Amino acid sequence: MWVIYISVTLRQRALHEQDIFQEGCLTEPIKRMSLVKPTLQTRFHIDFQWWQQNDRDWRVYLRSNLCPEHQRLFENVLTEEKVDWVDPETAEVQRVDGLQHLLITHCAKQKDFITQQSTLVDAAFRIFLANGNTPLTASELAEKLGKDPVMILRTLSGTRVYKGIRPCLD
Ligand SMILES: [Zn+2]
Repeated sequence: MWVIYISVTLRQRALHEQDIFQEGCLTEPIKRMSLVKPTLQTRFHIDFQWWQQNDRDWRVYLRSNLCPEHQRLFENVLTEEKVDWVDPETAEVQRVDGLQHLLITHCAKQKDFITQQSTLVDAAFRIFLANGNTPLTASELAEKLGKDPVMILRTLSGTRVYKGIRPCLD
């Protein structure tokens, strides 16, 4: 009885790990998040898939990052459209959310997209949008943001995940 129970539990866990496996990070699904403590060398990125599954307000936040022109255009439109997007790291073509694509290819390329006034998380999120979601370490983010790398690492590796910014599992 117990043996069956344990094997079912293990199998469920294995399936879950498959779910959280992230395409962009060139990692293996076997490694568990809980066993890997992020360091200053750990690379982070926006895990869009995780974010969209775990934060009901992701679309509202994503919209708030659109440029004024696209804010107006999408004000009353509920787009669920998917488009093809080429991952900069793996050159793999992925189906991504239309809004996400618009942000990365247009709005994030606008002047003043990364502002000094944003909070740490907002500014980091915009850096990832602007670089096509290429993974960065806390040290690299610190350089771009002019902030303390240890503070950034502490923020991004806590129990709460901000705006889907999570460590790559490598
Ligand atoms: Zn735009």
